[in-house]
Amino acid sequence: MCKKTKKLMIIAANAQKWRCYYCDYPIWDKDHEEFAKTYALKDGPLRLLRATAEHLIARCDGGADTQDNIVAACDHCNKTRHKAKVPLSPLEFRAKVRRRLAKGRWHSFRNPQITVARKKSQHTPRIDHSPASNHRDAHDNKR
Ligand SMILES: [Zn+2]
Repeated sequence: MCKKTKKLMIIAANAQKWRCYYCDYPIWDKDHEEFAKTYALKDGPLRLLRATAEHLIARCDGGADTQDNIVAACDHCNKTRHKAKVPLSPLEFRAKVRRRLAKGRWHSFRNPQITVARKKSQHTPRIDHSPASNHRDAHDNKR
């Protein structure tokens, strides 16, 4: 990672409160010992959560090293997105990651100390179909 890209990645990571853009897991850059201690992580998972610079538009597609094109993503998400022959768009990929996460099928390791913020919009509104209200309507119609 060149110096400029790295600098932009750090700014992005700060703005994201050091959470991966895709999976929302905590990510680290320099202080891996502290990070490993905080989350009780072994070397393998630790490496997967290293912060990387993710170009929303890939450099080979003309994406620039500019702040609005760079986010911080964990190594796992970054690599997985670009493994596909035709990588999904950042938003599509993020939606896919969140769906897999919800089923516990994204990161290969389990860590109860890592919690991922859930958006309120994920809750489906409850619709009241209780028989009591139907009964009252039927009763009212009879009159
Ligand atoms: Zn991630």
